[in-house]
Amino acid sequence: MRNIIFLGPPGSGKGTHAEKASRSMSIPRLSTGDMLREHMKQGTALGQEASAFVNSGNLVPDDVIIGMIRERLTDADCKGGVIFDGFPRTAAQAEALDGIAKIDLVINLEIDDDRIVSRMSGRRVCPACGHTSHTSLMQGNGCAECKTEMIIRKDDVPETVKARLAVYHEMTKPLIDYYSKRGILRSVDSDGTLAEAEARVCEALR
Ligand code: AMP
Repeated sequence: MRNIIFLGPPGSGKGTHAEKASRSMSIPRLSTGDMLREHMKQGTALGQEASAFVNSGNLVPDDVIIGMIRERLTDADCKGGVIFDGFPRTAAQAEALDGIAKIDLVINLEIDDDRIVSRMSGRRVCPACGHTSHTSLMQGNGCAECKTEMIIRKDDVPETVKARLAVYHEMTKPLIDYYSKRGILRSVDSDGTLAEAEARVCEALR
């Protein structure tokens, strides 16, 4: 049983690396961002409550997020461990998670702010399966997984990326210290090519 968190600013590659790790370790990836987008797509009450926060780059209230994760963790496929992608993002979420699951490892993806803005301007996401990619890696506009046309996420426009970065620095960055003090944090340089970053993440996961 292994519970792993992928921590890092927006655009640091959390989703990409967490997706890969989830496949290779055969444990589910729990992306709160994906879960929220699914609720928004389905038009659920939770999705309606979350959409203004998500689209403006602000955090969805802690109780909503914690409730969503708490419920997901009761599913049978989570019993052998999970990968948290984009959760926790605040001290309150990290404290709540401590009461629900034992965290074994936190991978902290590091990248400078100015690199993030340029990375995110080329980011594309598949509206059907959630696969993410970057224009520099794509041939054509089709999803590599399911061929659906990839789109730009509403919150990936530059002004919103800047707002999300500010939120990251204020609310999420303190979690580096939170987990580092516990001796379970490994920082990984997420810059460079995807293959280089992947190799570093792989090493940190050992
Ligand atoms: P992501 O796909 O992880 O970049 O998340 C997209 C957006 O969903 C964020 O900018 C927030 O508005 C919201 N969100 C995702 N995860 C969380 C979380 N753990 N706490 C609060 N809001 C979240």
